[in-house]
Amino acid sequence: MNLNVLVLPGDGIGTEVTREAVRVLRVVAEKWRHQLTIREGLLGGVAIHKTGVPLPADTEKLSAEADAVLMGAVGLPEFDDAPTDKRPETGLLGLRKAMAVFANLRPVRSYKALLNSSPLKNELVDGVDMIIVRELTGGLYYGTPRGISGEGMDERGVNTMAYTRREIDRVARMAFELARKRRKKLTSVDKSNVLDTSQLWRRVVVEVAKDFPGVALDHLLVDNCAMQLVLNPKRFDVVLTENMFGDILSDEGAVLAGSIGMLPSASIGAKKPSGAWTGLYEPVHGSAPDIAGQNKANPFGAIGSVAAMLEYSFGLTEEAAAVNRAMEQVLNCGKVTADLRPTGTPATTEETGEAVCQAI
Ligand code: NAD
Repeated sequence: MNLNVLVLPGDGIGTEVTREAVRVLRVVAEKWRHQLTIREGLLGGVAIHKTGVPLPADTEKLSAEADAVLMGAVGLPEFDDAPTDKRPETGLLGLRKAMAVFANLRPVRSYKALLNSSPLKNELVDGVDMIIVRELTGGLYYGTPRGISGEGMDERGVNTMAYTRREIDRVARMAFELARKRRKKLTSVDKSNVLDTSQLWRRVVVEVAKDFPGVALDHLLVDNCAMQLVLNPKRFDVVLTENMFGDILSDEGAVLAGSIGMLPSASIGAKKPSGAWTGLYEPVHGSAPDIAGQNKANPFGAIGSVAAMLEYSFGLTEEAAAVNRAMEQVLNCGKVTADLRPTGTPATTEETGEAVCQAI
């Protein structure tokens, strides 16, 4: 298969973790004989330094040409007080918009070696393996009218939660397709006892479900879902929800895994003519200025993002599973970075990446 990948290392530990993720990608391509083409672009603080803007036109063009984009992280303390158009994070938001990614996927899984890092009891977390699919372009964060108006005690803030059938339909189809390739269970989360948008959400999801007869669908109200995520996280396979509910629930889910450095993410858009799903893959964490340049960042979130890319953009489930197994093997033998509190000397970012490559 041809794998055309754009790599945007970004800032801080972004450059360190993507270096290891790319190494892993090269090993996979070599082992399974895929034709890998990697191009590199500028995004974030490094792009501001070199071009004056956080998302150069060249990067946008390269992202349109690539089948998938692997990003590190953006953000540098020196830009903390900069105007919005000169902030690294603006580049990332612009990239997500330019790529028209409408679904954010957060795989959440437990690793035996990290069970003690989770705040939940081991028996609750052991075996957790779910994906939270969050709608990314609609709902309360984008709806209009919005704003603050009026004065004194009449001053009023307004946001609008709005969804079209099209927006619900496309993200639901993606979630059902994912569920079909997994344990064939989809939980749709809404607040249909109170919100009209949720009533439409539920109606459309039920309709889409008819095209996926092999997938079992159930519905949970978001408040109950928040509770079930900590009471019985193993009950979930694919969780589908709208933008704000997903924002909140995915952070709750993230805690299950133990360390922020472990978490991958994928933002998916339309299918490309090549058959690959447009995808932006990045670890959940930021540029971590406090540990940048010290070769001690945990690269698993970035390497897990490569596994997600192989699976979601390219449909290479065997290769993705091999990367996940290799990460698990490295975790089990304790060759891990300081954030995972190993008993012996912590491994460096580079050593961890190398160990994953060896394990593959
Ligand atoms: P952060 O995720 O960068 O760091 C939070 C804490 O977690 C730090 O103590 C850091 O050392 C630790 N940490 C994060 N990733 C780690 C890893 N892989 N291995 C080991 N430890 C890790 O969040 P922050 O400090 O709030 O933000 C720093 C910068 O990153 C800011 O400029 C922020 O805007 C940006 N940011 C970017 C993204 C992104 O690019 N998607 C996401 C979040 C924050």
